[in-house]
Amino acid sequence: MTVTVRFAPSPTGRIHIGNARTALFNWLFAMKNGGRFVQRFDDTDLARSKQEYADAILYDLHWLGIFPDATEYQSRRFEVYDAAVEKLKAAGLLYACYETAEELELRRKIRLSRKLPPVYGREALKLTDEEKAAFEAEGRRPHWRFLLPNFKDDPFETERTEVHWNDIVRGNETVDLASLSDPVLVREDGTYLYTLPSVVDDIEMGITHIIRGDDHVTNTGVQIALFKALGAEPPAFGHHNMLTTGDGEGLSKRTGALSISGLRESGIEPMSVASLAVLIGTSESVAAVPAMSELAARFDPTTTSKSASKFDPDELLVLNRTLLHNMPFSEAQDRLSALGISGEKAEPFWLAVRGNLDRLSDAAGWWRVVRQGPEQPAELSGEDADFVGQALDLLPEEPWDGTTWKSWTQAVKEATGRKGKPLFMPLRLALTGLSSGPELADLLPLLGREGTLARRP
Ligand code: GLU
Repeated sequence: MTVTVRFAPSPTGRIHIGNARTALFNWLFAMKNGGRFVQRFDDTDLARSKQEYADAILYDLHWLGIFPDATEYQSRRFEVYDAAVEKLKAAGLLYACYETAEELELRRKIRLSRKLPPVYGREALKLTDEEKAAFEAEGRRPHWRFLLPNFKDDPFETERTEVHWNDIVRGNETVDLASLSDPVLVREDGTYLYTLPSVVDDIEMGITHIIRGDDHVTNTGVQIALFKALGAEPPAFGHHNMLTTGDGEGLSKRTGALSISGLRESGIEPMSVASLAVLIGTSESVAAVPAMSELAARFDPTTTSKSASKFDPDELLVLNRTLLHNMPFSEAQDRLSALGISGEKAEPFWLAVRGNLDRLSDAAGWWRVVRQGPEQPAELSGEDADFVGQALDLLPEEPWDGTTWKSWTQAVKEATGRKGKPLFMPLRLALTGLSSGPELADLLPLLGREGTLARRP
């Protein structure tokens, strides 16, 4: 059976780095197992879901390097869910309940005061047809609960019923179905909660491995029961830990915190995001991994910690610098070209400046320095300005190469007696306008003799 995974966000906002962790765990798992990746939009909530968010999520996934084999929308599949509802009703596994939220809350309090677990007591199962008709006549509409298989013969005599699975991430997991309320699958207004459409799709789309955040561990007990009630073998499950920011706060699509689009706009490389999103909270140390195939080789979900992983967004910038420092010209070329950096000098320019960049777009500033001179001429003392003038008089004729800087500054040293910082700093300031930056040995051939002379103070 082909390994098939899915990433199933609701398109109610932009995805963040925590969602990217889930998407990437699935993507890398599929990659390692020659599997398929289904992009599923859980958009049964028609009021909150938006196509523009679904489009934006696909864009973010592509940017990260995730290319789904199929894209599905739950909002287009209501008949399939309706058919599953009929099947469950016919089997007596989905029953109508008429309680209001207040009535349920009151019952919960009574159970607690009697030291009973605050689960739903299945009172609706006792309703006669007349009682149901009376509720309907009052204008009440039922919500529908799934009868959990946590009893032998009498649904009012529940008994410990363990559901086990060997979690891909967490190892052996157990949920006791007697500790849970029968879950509502369909609301009064006929809309679906997440559980039933999710399980129906997992069956129909041939999902073999469900990998998601550990906020779904308890749901898995219910879902395994539902798979079985619908006559399907449950897939394998894996629940990874969640990411939180340094102060322990969770991430939310709603607040837009650390959204993938925001990170992209701030110049963070996709592989910086992917490296952090995948490796944090695992036994692998977080490192800037330049390619998805290499990340796949390092990915081992079984080593993921069980507790939430705090991460520092500043770490993204550190990874970004490392990625850019090692990025070959061929990979940067198109993006440089879009910044107006092209021609025969583009490659040596890239190799000269990449070690000094926080973001690829910062290259544009250096290109300007190389092509047009410093944005603002550096302020030099009269003495230093004279020194620079003297040094420029000693510039050798072209052609220049990587050794020109050394031979020139050697000649300047001999002629002026200056060495070390008093020699190099005025030259750097005059040539670039800045006190730090790429190696001048690399920049000098890019400036050329004419360009260098034009920087005479
Ligand atoms: N739409 C659900 C969520 O975003 C999917 C959970 C799952 O992967 O089953 O939480």
